[in-house]
Amino acid sequence: MNNSGLCFCGSTISFQDCCQKYIAGTEKAPTALALMKSRYSAYATHQADYLLNTTHNSQRKYYSREEILQWATANQWQKLEIISATEYTVEFKAYFLDGNKQSQIHHEFSTFKKENGNWFYVDGKFE
Ligand SMILES: [Zn+2]
Repeated sequence: MNNSGLCFCGSTISFQDCCQKYIAGTEKAPTALALMKSRYSAYATHQADYLLNTTHNSQRKYYSREEILQWATANQWQKLEIISATEYTVEFKAYFLDGNKQSQIHHEFSTFKKENGNWFYVDGKFE
């Protein structure tokens, strides 16, 4: 839980009622946007397994659990801003402090795919 008690993804409800239920696996993310937000919250809470498991299996070989965990824990995740979203895409900015406490923005245009009722992150274009 962050200081405000609200979910990391910027919603107006608690983490428990928001992204945590997707991360814990008690519910499936209903949309690409919900999945994307839960992945951001998973970075904020260092849930590398969830991040790997929600990456489409065609892309999973490009990631390692250790690298994801390293990236998640090295940075301090501050906020998520959704720029735009369609059924299969989300453009967002993730604000974070890097290991040197410098403000950084990760601006990405992500693509998602739904298979057997589950949404997966496929890939992203970023600066
Ligand atoms: Zn959330």
